[in-house]
Amino acid sequence: MNNKKVALITGASHGIGKEISIKMASEGYDIVINYNSDIKVAKETSEICKKLGAKVICIKANVSNYLEVEKMFEEVLNEFGRIDVLVNNSGITKDNLLLRMNESDFDDVISVNLKGTFNCIKQAIKPMMKAKSGAIINMASVIGLVGNVGQANYAASKAGVIGLTKSTAKELAPRGIRVNAIAPGFIQTRMTDKLDDKIKDAILTNIPLNEFGTTEDIANTVVFLASENSRYITGQVINVDGGMVM
Ligand code: NAP
Repeated sequence: MNNKKVALITGASHGIGKEISIKMASEGYDIVINYNSDIKVAKETSEICKKLGAKVICIKANVSNYLEVEKMFEEVLNEFGRIDVLVNNSGITKDNLLLRMNESDFDDVISVNLKGTFNCIKQAIKPMMKAKSGAIINMASVIGLVGNVGQANYAASKAGVIGLTKSTAKELAPRGIRVNAIAPGFIQTRMTDKLDDKIKDAILTNIPLNEFGTTEDIANTVVFLASENSRYITGQVINVDGGMVM
């Protein structure tokens, strides 16, 4: 079995997931980088993590596909023999007003954001239960708490992630596994870059700390929730949003 702790981060090729991988590598974890399409960026992230001393594997898997996720975890266990931290970070948006939202826009977002989280938890808990320890961190969103015009699908998926977090936290606490969620506010990544400037300005007026968040703000919270410093915290949703929702 691998000597060092192993963290698997889904959607680790870009944005928040990329930053989490780098931060966890610098904290001494070995890293599994999951990506869906962008192998080039996944490899770049991998090189940065390796320079920080981590052993790294990159695995392509669509988290919404149960069999692909099952295969990914088999590969992780063959390579490392353990999984200590799972960060369910993969996420997509397909925004539109409800009147114009297609069935596929709804299904796709639920499949990746919510079912993808379920698929990975389902696989991770087997080795974690055996080890009687583990930390699972699910990426929710403040939109899952308060809703948003044009994001019915996304809000439903993230509210679902919060419900999933709380139920699994209750089920898994007796097994030594903690499950928490992070609800980011507005974090600067390609997901938010595509919003037009007027919308960004309007959002900024609702952020008491008066600035957008960085990927590092989220990665620091993941490090805390993965560590022994949060040993008495489970089933919680931690807002990292500059005070947007309180
Ligand atoms: P991003 O830059 O668009 O990155 C999304 C990541 O998810 C990419 O690495 C992408 O991989 C991966 N992904 C997409 N579909 C996937 C699938 N089917 N299977 C596996 N991986 C998949 O987004 P981000 O802003 O960093 O967001 C990360 C998470 O934070 C998401 O869950 C998002 O909902 C949440 N969040 C973000 C914000 C924000 O302000 N940015 C706010 C609240 C919550 P490929 O590129 O390889 O396809």
